[in-house]
Amino acid sequence: MSESNGRSSGAVAQHSDRGDEVADIVVIGAGIAGLCAAGELAKTGRRVLVLEKSRGAGGRMATRRFGGAVCDHGAQFFTIRGRAFGGIVAAAHAAGMATTWCEGFSRAPTVADPLENTADGHARWRGSRGMTDLPKWIAGGLTAGTVRTGIRATAIGLAAGRVRIAAEDAACGPMSFSAGGVLVTSPVPQSLELFAAGGMTAGQGADAEALASLGSVDYDPCFALMLVLRSPSLVPPPGGIQFAAGPISWLADNQQKGISPVPALTAHAGGEWSRRRFDDPPDNVADELTDLVRPWIDGDPAGAVIERSLHRWKYATPTTILPAPLVAVSAAPPVVCCGDAFAGPKVEGAASSGMAAARWLTRTLGSS
Ligand SMILES: Cc1cc2nc3c(=O)[nH]c(=O)nc-3n(C[C@H](O)[C@H](O)[C@H](O)COP(=O)(O)OP(=O)(O)OC[C@H]3O[C@@H](n4cnc5c(N)ncnc54)[C@H](O)[C@@H]3O)c2cc1C
Repeated sequence: MSESNGRSSGAVAQHSDRGDEVADIVVIGAGIAGLCAAGELAKTGRRVLVLEKSRGAGGRMATRRFGGAVCDHGAQFFTIRGRAFGGIVAAAHAAGMATTWCEGFSRAPTVADPLENTADGHARWRGSRGMTDLPKWIAGGLTAGTVRTGIRATAIGLAAGRVRIAAEDAACGPMSFSAGGVLVTSPVPQSLELFAAGGMTAGQGADAEALASLGSVDYDPCFALMLVLRSPSLVPPPGGIQFAAGPISWLADNQQKGISPVPALTAHAGGEWSRRRFDDPPDNVADELTDLVRPWIDGDPAGAVIERSLHRWKYATPTTILPAPLVAVSAAPPVVCCGDAFAGPKVEGAASSGMAAARWLTRTLGSS
């Protein structure tokens, strides 16, 4: 075997005799959890690879550019409660990649009710040009070649004391990786599919209790409708409305937010509504959502909406949050799951979970 057990931070590919690309640690997913984990792991000098199935980093911190507009269509803002995430955001702020948006939004029970302004003095943050700025900035700080986009992991299994990851490169086809440990940040139902595909079942390398706990995690879906408008929207400053119930859960004005050069709205449908309409034709969903946000569009949508785009998030927000910041599916070799379904939801919860999982992996590998 030519596999290296040594620690190097270089990004030059190393291969085992069976052709697997070798890394000390493979991270599945370049969302905020995977990237914060990779940043933490890089400090230990280990060779880390982050595999991301999409074309770019960010995951659910997502920004779409179309029709001259810039729209965040996943996470809309983030807050800071802990010191570790606060340190990352402070550095991103100093680099010009993150900034504050406001200290609270308008709220209403549903789209049919009057709005109440509920600024609470607690900063809501955003990426400077859109929410992807923060994950992209973290990815840019890692050694070149650490984050590999366009590579979808298809199976995670154990072989000869290491973890074997089968993957599909969008450009080059099937490939495989061998790692001393793996940190998995995909939405939990997708992570469980990866373990099943790799033969990691209860008693077959995977901890039965861990699998059962992961099996309890569910997510709400979410439709995100983005509208480019002819004239500024009627959303009151600072450009966001949170609805407690009903078909619309959130409405944002991306121009007031400071990311779009032209008037553009992002509307999120509520979890229950999105679940019911999940398989409906996209045009019907977009028509209905456009009608629901009509009170905040200046004029008849037929003429006032220049362009629109609909995104369907299957796993938008976890409805179950597990109590621990990570769940180890295997201890030797270590395979650990983390992300926003672990100990704390949302952007900061995912980042904190990723960093906790990285520290656990470092301790486990250090003592093995
Ligand atoms: C519509 C919506 C609105 C939201 N609003 C807010 C908000 O306002 N504030 C807030 O704090 N949070 C919000 N959130 C939640 C926030 O976006 C998430 O909690 C956070 O981004 C999750 O980060 P993560 O790294 O755990 O997961 P993700 O961001 O989902 O990252 C996982 C990554 O893994 C990749 N991946 C998955 N499977 C594979 C595979 N097999 N191989 C390779 N890569 C794979 C995915 O492409 C993705 O990039 C919102 C989410 C959505 C969808």
